[in-house]
Parts: sequence; C-alpha cells; structure tokens
Amino acid sequence: MFKRMKIWLIFMVCCFLFSTAGIAEGKEQLPEKVVYLTFDDGPKKATPELLAILDELEVPATFFLLGLQARAFPEYTRMIFERGDTIACHTMDHSSGGIKDEPAQLELVFRRFIKEMHEILGDESYTTDLFRFPGGSSSYPYPTKKKVTDLGWSWFDWNAMTRDTYEDMDAKAVFSSVRKTTNGRDVVILLAHDGKKNTRLALPEIVQYYRDGGYTFRRLSTSMEERRILARCPAHMRLPDAGIEGEQLLLESLKAREQKP
Ligand SMILES: [Zn+2]
Repeated sequence: MFKRMKIWLIFMVCCFLFSTAGIAEGKEQLPEKVVYLTFDDGPKKATPELLAILDELEVPATFFLLGLQARAFPEYTRMIFERGDTIACHTMDHSSGGIKDEPAQLELVFRRFIKEMHEILGDESYTTDLFRFPGGSSSYPYPTKKKVTDLGWSWFDWNAMTRDTYEDMDAKAVFSSVRKTTNGRDVVILLAHDGKKNTRLALPEIVQYYRDGGYTFRRLSTSMEERRILARCPAHMRLPDAGIEGEQLLLESLKAREQKP
C-alpha cells in the first residue's frame, strides 16, 4: 500500500515538473485547434455591418485589403484598425499581371500599400509583412512567390473556404462549404470576402461551429507564437526565414505533412 503511494507521488511530481517546463518555454498556452477568419477585397460599403457582427460574436479577424478600396473607404479602414484586427496586403487593385511578369514590382506594391495605410490611419507605426496573392498563389510563377519572401514578407493562401463569391451561394450553402472544407483540420485559415451578405448571415453559425469544435480564433501574424501554430497548418503559405527556430519549424511541418496519409 505504502509502495503504491510512493510510486503515485513520484508520478505526480514528474507531471508537475513537465508541465512547468512547458509553461517556462511558453508552449503550454498555444491552443491545439485554431481558426483564422480572413476577409479579402475590402473595405466595402458594408464593412461596418461585418465589423458589427464580428464585435457581437467577439471574434478577431484578418483583413487582406486592397489599397485603392482603402482609399475609397478610409473611415472603414480606420474602423478595422481600431478593432485591433490585422490589416494585410492584397495589392492595390487586385491586378495580377504586373507582378506575374515582373516580380520586382512587388516591392513597389508593398511600399505603396504601406504608404497608403500611413496616410489613411494617420499612424506611422502601422506596418505589415503579410500578403495574399489576388486569386491565390497557384497561378503565380515561382520567381514571384520567392520575391515575396526575399523582401521579408509572407504570403498565405487558405485551407477552408466559404465560396461566398460563387453564384447562388446563400448563407446555408456558405455554412455548408465551411463545414465541408474545414474537414476536421486542427489549424484552419478560412477564406471569406468583405461585402458579402451571405457570409455575414452565415457568420453566427460558422463561429458557433468552430466554438463547438474547440477552436480558438486568432489573427494572422508572423510572430514566433503564430509560426508555431501555422507550422501545423496544411494551407499553402510561405513565411520568410526566422533563424534556426524558424527553419526547425518548417522542417517539422514538412515532416508532419509527409507522414499524413
Ligand atoms: Zn481577392
């Protein structure tokens, strides 16, 4: 009886030591299941309606904005910024030809985007290193993709989608697409679009679905914490190198992908 208690005691001490080691490394707090809600092509006329719904549901978001749309709706751009949501770059005007043919143009696009945001937000501290290709990365040649990371930026696609720009997609169909494309993945980058009523109507159900599934809602970034989470995300993306730890994360994620059936 006494011996059994002793073994139990040693087991408990070991558990405690392992758990505190995890906390000290900052790994303990990282959630297992994460969803990033991303909204493209805004701001739009209905952006305040979308933001009100996100407020109501108490979820953070990431906005891949178009520079010229931001100029058309500066007030809404400030509203997104003041909510604390991530403002990322989706080019100035959704054109792809220039950067496809001449990757060097990306530098100009990024510079113009950040300058535009400084003027609109009146805040020079704003910056971003997050980019999404118009239409997604698959139609761009390797030199264009490489140029993004060479400039110290990251690019992101998605691994779940609302299909909210497709014709005949009502809120019910949008929710169904989210459920089907999420398909039990632990780390999800969901593609949605600003200005889409079907997505706005479906959002309460979408958020409830992820909450019921045990997901935490987060904003995209290239912080070390986010890199750890994104290393488990099967979406197409590329982050610039982040030293030895960043390389290690990349290797781990590639290994994990290879092991998946
Ligand atoms: Zn787009």
